[in-house]
Amino acid sequence: MEDSRKSKLAFEHRDGQLADRFGRVARKFRISVTDRCNFRCHFCMPIKPIWKPKDEILTYEEIARVAKILAGMGVTKIRLSGGEPLMRRDIDKLVAMLRQIPQVTSIAMTTNGFYLPEMAERLKEAGLDSVTVSLHSLKPERFEEIVGKGEVFERVIEGLKMAQKVGLNPVKVNVVITYGCNEDEILDFAELARKTGLTVRFIEYMPFDGRKLWRPELLVSGDEIISRIESLYPLIPLPREQGSTAQVYKFADGIGGDIGVITSMTAPFCGDCDRIRMTADGKIVPCMFSKDEYDVKSLLRSGATDEEIAAFIRQAFWNKFAGVETLLREQQVIAHVRPMYELGG
Ligand code: SAM
Ligand code: SF4
Repeated sequence: MEDSRKSKLAFEHRDGQLADRFGRVARKFRISVTDRCNFRCHFCMPIKPIWKPKDEILTYEEIARVAKILAGMGVTKIRLSGGEPLMRRDIDKLVAMLRQIPQVTSIAMTTNGFYLPEMAERLKEAGLDSVTVSLHSLKPERFEEIVGKGEVFERVIEGLKMAQKVGLNPVKVNVVITYGCNEDEILDFAELARKTGLTVRFIEYMPFDGRKLWRPELLVSGDEIISRIESLYPLIPLPREQGSTAQVYKFADGIGGDIGVITSMTAPFCGDCDRIRMTADGKIVPCMFSKDEYDVKSLLRSGATDEEIAAFIRQAFWNKFAGVETLLREQQVIAHVRPMYELGG
């Protein structure tokens, strides 16, 4: 009797999860809180971005409501991104609201780091767990050229240090390496990981740049990055975490932080992808490599119940695209879907 009750509960629990037709289950929610940004990274922003009107951007209450509904369906990890998430006023208030959701075990943020020197402490106090700072060069002038803004390098470095100081953990660095731009710095970044203990994650250049400059010849593959690092510092691959976007390595001599490669373009991990995304204007995006998006904002603003919103998201996620892996297998061209600053990466 007791056993059959348990198995019924287990079934109900599984049934309540957010699953797609390939059996993948959503655990991580990536929220773009704004499309605005104070940087103009050449691989992300158009020269003259057109921002979405402010009244189309979800309020913190609306974002938290969607997060709560997703948490009720098994999502436990949240990442805030953008645009630049720290461009949103009092973003720590949103962090605090998300922290109130009992099922949420981790809240992270991906940021360009510019506002971290003054925001890191407030974010930590509000309940942010960890942060990833995008840093695409260790040479100040080159960095500022890449991000299209002068006199920002020192602030970003200060932001990284502040994040560590206030106890955000882990603090990671994201770097997009492209040929002809910064591929000569791969070893420098490996040395940064060794010296500081930071995890450095190399992201393969994806064709989601606002200027549509992406060419296959510009892409530096994860394999190339790892072999360049191994020419000087042997690495040991760590077991890949279920659903992780990155293949992670540690230095064989045990020194420093980890190295990660996010090989979305050459060796993606679509089979156990556990992410669901939402744009700043409330579109649910089950897969970043597909144009499919589902407008949840209209429901939020037309008096729909939580159950109706849950059913809508459930249907959207059920339809999730198989993934970029399928395109690669079929040797299809990977098209530009939407610029990265609209989705948050
Ligand atoms: N503004 C924040 C930042 O730069 O970290 C968060 C948003 S940004 C769109 C999220 C991540 O996507 C960043 O690490 C950024 O470097 C990365 N990114 C942007 N454009 C990319 C592209 N075309 N290919 C690969 N990664 C990209
Ligand atoms: Fe802004 Fe981040 Fe895009 Fe750079 S990558 S332009 S910092 S949103």
